[in-house]
Amino acid sequence: MNNKIFKTLQANMPKISATEKAALDSGDIWLEADLFKNEIDWHSYKNIDLQKLTEKEQSFIDNELEEFLSMVDSYEINNKEEIPLDLMDFMKKNKFFSFIIPEEYGGLDFSAYANSVVVSKIASLNSSLAVTVMVPNSLGPAELLKKYGTKEEKEKWLPKLATGEEFPCFGLTSPFAGSDAGSIPDKGIVVKKEIDGELKTGISLTINKRYITLAPIATVIGLAFKVEDPDGLLGENKDLGITCALIPSETEGVSTKDYHKPMNMAFRNGTIKGKNVFIPIDYVIGGKENIGKGWEMLMACLADGRGVSLPALATAKSQMNTYQTFAYSEVREQFNTPISKFEGVEEKLSEMILKTYINEATRTLTLAGLDKKIKPAIVTAITKYHTTEFARDILNNSMDIMAGKSIIQGKNNPSWDSYTGMPIAITVEGANILTRNLIIYGQGAIRCHPFILKEMETFDNNDEDRFNELLKEHALFFSKKLAKTIIKYPSLALSSKRSMSGLKSYMDYYSSLFYLLSDVSLLTLGGKLKFKENVSARLGDILSYLYMGVAVVSYYEKNKSTENEIIAISSLRLLMKEINNSLEEFYSLFPNKLAIKPLQFVTTPLGRFDFNPYPSENRNVLKAYSNESLQSQMLNLVDLKNERTSVNTMHKAYLMKKELKEVLEKIKRAEITDLVNPFEIARDKNIINEEEFTKLKEYQDLMLKVINVDEFSD
Ligand SMILES: Cc1cc2nc3c(=O)[nH]c(=O)nc-3n(C[C@H](O)[C@H](O)[C@H](O)COP(=O)(O)OP(=O)(O)OC[C@H]3O[C@@H](n4cnc5c(N)ncnc54)[C@H](O)[C@@H]3O)c2cc1C
Repeated sequence: MNNKIFKTLQANMPKISATEKAALDSGDIWLEADLFKNEIDWHSYKNIDLQKLTEKEQSFIDNELEEFLSMVDSYEINNKEEIPLDLMDFMKKNKFFSFIIPEEYGGLDFSAYANSVVVSKIASLNSSLAVTVMVPNSLGPAELLKKYGTKEEKEKWLPKLATGEEFPCFGLTSPFAGSDAGSIPDKGIVVKKEIDGELKTGISLTINKRYITLAPIATVIGLAFKVEDPDGLLGENKDLGITCALIPSETEGVSTKDYHKPMNMAFRNGTIKGKNVFIPIDYVIGGKENIGKGWEMLMACLADGRGVSLPALATAKSQMNTYQTFAYSEVREQFNTPISKFEGVEEKLSEMILKTYINEATRTLTLAGLDKKIKPAIVTAITKYHTTEFARDILNNSMDIMAGKSIIQGKNNPSWDSYTGMPIAITVEGANILTRNLIIYGQGAIRCHPFILKEMETFDNNDEDRFNELLKEHALFFSKKLAKTIIKYPSLALSSKRSMSGLKSYMDYYSSLFYLLSDVSLLTLGGKLKFKENVSARLGDILSYLYMGVAVVSYYEKNKSTENEIIAISSLRLLMKEINNSLEEFYSLFPNKLAIKPLQFVTTPLGRFDFNPYPSENRNVLKAYSNESLQSQMLNLVDLKNERTSVNTMHKAYLMKKELKEVLEKIKRAEITDLVNPFEIARDKNIINEEEFTKLKEYQDLMLKVINVDEFSD
């Protein structure tokens, strides 16, 4: 019997390609594995250190960064095709491009957390600037050199990259290979060439790269291409595989002159082209030994990088858009009422606040993992995908609420920078549909499952005895989780859906149910699961929402207050609702109903749980968010001081309206309905005194700035 199972599974289990294997080997697993196996350890999550800056990092943020932010005029930048020179010079002089370069090479050597804070604050003002800063501080030449470069290479390049004397870009994408980057057609043929009378072995490159950020202004290009050695100059192997090299952009035959205009933004982006360009073999990062190891190198760097830059941008934009929309809704009145008081607006605002809270919690938890020097590849993919998706939802809500104000272009438009920047965050470092459907669960299942990888190894090694041992353990594990899930379901009737401890119990239930669904999917679909993306995406979503739930609990533990509790609980409820939706869709999309229906029946006998909002929930969330101390906590990544920004104007107007609450109510009670000159009428009727009138006029100026849009005439 076991022999039959072995043979059937051996035939059905997914085969892992070489590129997938490299991706799988490129990172570590972290607490997502606990969620997968349903071994949640709330106590240890409570003790994960979040949010730490060294003195040096804090000083950089308080001084160099503050000064830089005060120089930024986002509207001016967005109307140019490049970042103004004075800003570029300031950043180079103050080592803004050296956060990941070790101090011994002249870099600032910041933690992932500090890197993220700096990028976030810049992103809160301008996306193009943030992209320009994040690329050299993320996957690219510095990261590759640091991890894989020889001592000579590090000494040659890193000090100059730290000061901006050399400026980097990294070219992987080609017109034929975007998401499927492992299939790049760019070639490097190993050849011999006579140089200064000497015959040298090198690589003849033919490349056509596109979409490369900073390529038009780069002085040094990190490049990925496939090396072939048809004449066996380096050994017997003719197809050596993907290789990464560092090439001066001045190299004869290399062209970076053709450029793109991504959403007409100001950061530079373009192409890298070249035909039969000769480069010495020692341009390969790490030297000859690293020929063919490029894919592993890239995957290892990507596993880290995608947890830092784009989640930073997404969270900063979430915080900024949520706050300015909230402030706008308090200031803007229609039907003689602040629009925030309408239930429809309140509902959208509440969702924005919760998603912003979840984004910040997820960002900080993932950074805590990265700063432990582990490379949690699945967690970083979860963080990249969900923070950028939530940021996009937040922006959409924000634009619905601010309506015409968001649409009219000009200095007073509060949304344009996010609106142009967001699709870029969604597309780069693993386009989101691919990340959700293929990476999160595809890699998560194989890495985090307690048995699958070991069982797959027995198929490869034809080791039936070991398989039989594993099968017994696996069956026992499954039975335990099944029993636990069945028992847990009725006990949840006693767990409150509005308390932290109750919601943790629901998460525990969903985590054990998730394990069962994974097992049934893997066992019944086998290798086909890879192509059933609709199914694997839902499983990936459940794993992601559980991870984000842990992040919320962990973040709340570090920021305990009544308001935090209200927001954290509603955030968890939102995540549980999302899990429910994913489960519903999973059951309906799962192709083998005979296998899944009985499991659904025994684990959810009375149907799914209800996490729909209760009548006062949205109002409670908004009330909690109105608390000043919570607001400043939820604006930790936003530069509010820059007077050229709409968020600054909205902030001031909102604060002033709050200060003038009683006087404004006096005017309302007097039933003065004139919209244009209400304060003059109130003064003339002696409802307010002269001092109050002066203050109200000051407020009116601010309020007009908030509601006005740009007008142009030819
Ligand atoms: C502004 C910008 C800056 C960039 N900077 C750089 C850079 O500096 N260096 C660099 O090398 N590259 C860069 N890129 C390239 C970027 O990484 C690619 O755009 C990205 O990998 C997607 O490739 P593509 O645009 O060709 O889309 P495609 O690969 O054609 O994908 C199209 C759609 O199909 C989806 N898809 C593809 N395969 C699957 C799958 N198996 N399952 C589910 N969905 C799938 C994708 O998610 C996407 O939605 C940049 C791109 C942009 C737009």
